[in-house]
Amino acid sequence: MQNIVSIEKVEKYYGNKGNITKAIDNISFTVEQGEFVGIMGPSGSGKTTLLNCISTIDTVTTGKIIINNKDITVLKKKAMEEFRRDELGFIFQDFNLLDTLTAYENIALALTIQQRETAEIDRLIKNVAKKLEITEILDKFPFQMSGGQKQRVACARALVTEPSLVLADEPTGALDSKSARLLLDSFEKLNNEFQTTILMVTHDSFTASYAQRILFIKDGRIFNELVRGNDTRKEFFNKIIEVVTLLGGDVGHVL
Ligand code: ADP
Repeated sequence: MQNIVSIEKVEKYYGNKGNITKAIDNISFTVEQGEFVGIMGPSGSGKTTLLNCISTIDTVTTGKIIINNKDITVLKKKAMEEFRRDELGFIFQDFNLLDTLTAYENIALALTIQQRETAEIDRLIKNVAKKLEITEILDKFPFQMSGGQKQRVACARALVTEPSLVLADEPTGALDSKSARLLLDSFEKLNNEFQTTILMVTHDSFTASYAQRILFIKDGRIFNELVRGNDTRKEFFNKIIEVVTLLGGDVGHVL
């Protein structure tokens, strides 16, 4: 399988002489095409910094981040904007939908920016809406939707451009457990159907148990790695809990 993401000896320091925080301390890992990888770690361990560097919101101090064969740490502003538009999909904890646009328009936005044809936009939206079971709510505005529906629309928006990589930051953080389960079921399904590569940061063991592999980060370093393999989700969840307990974090959901 081809590597879509290759993180090579990345370090990120904040501050200046005498007062330096090593937010990322020599992290290396790869993610293959079609993998669903979770990143877990206690608060302050460097998860957000890592995600921000991968999404080009922040820059690394040293090291390389190669996504779809491009070293994004050396891209100039315009190339970086194009890279973000064409290669990445984002799913945030608080959905980030535009309140004045319908679900359809929110999803269409990413395609309009890419200057796709109207008929193609329509076809792609209907296709993704069917897969995420949001066809019935495409004409609704965010205030008319439940949290779970909003997140499914956000998910559709992230996936409709068929990005090389989807970055999800605590995607279930604002959802009740039933909506979280529904969203994660669709994530799993979409990952299987589209072969979308997903990198998801979460502190929640239940959410993490949907991934195929988890990287645990502590003090800016990779502390452990768990591969689901042939485990059931429940077995994988139990293994995650063990590592989270070792790391000293909270256990989150209980099945
Ligand atoms: P997490 O997402 O795992 O909670 P973060 O990536 O937010 O961790 O933070 C990692 C470390 O880097 C923490 O010690 C944090 O205080 C520090 N840090 C994060 N962002 C900044 C910043 N903009 N300036 C200075 N220090 C920062």
